[in-house]
Amino acid sequence: MNIIDMLPRAYYNVPKCPACNSRMTGRYIKSSDEDEQIIEDALRNGELVKPIKIAIPENNCFCIDCGFEWSQEIPVSFVTSNQIAREGIERGTFEILAARQIEKDEKEEPKIRKTKKLRASLKNMLGL
Ligand SMILES: [Zn+2]
Repeated sequence: MNIIDMLPRAYYNVPKCPACNSRMTGRYIKSSDEDEQIIEDALRNGELVKPIKIAIPENNCFCIDCGFEWSQEIPVSFVTSNQIAREGIERGTFEILAARQIEKDEKEEPKIRKTKKLRASLKNMLGL
């Protein structure tokens, strides 16, 4: 473990879905125009977000599994990158990010380079 892994990182811990108990929950956030980048940065940080341009809806939390939305204040917490890695695995954010990467690469790159790049980005994400 290096020093950067030990520094606490900001994390918005959306609790389990009150309707179906799923961990695949996230929150709406206000955004600029670069939605893709915001979504991917959040996924990399173990968080699920839906950027919204005008105002955050009253039901600011959502569940990917059942589609339930509810209102709950999510205060920022500070956690280690290990905790973030655990959250990301439980919420499925790394898988979503990897799937998005594959989709992008399929459009842009020949197949041979794709696997290499995915492996590298997975390693990077998990801090290996
Ligand atoms: Zn749910």
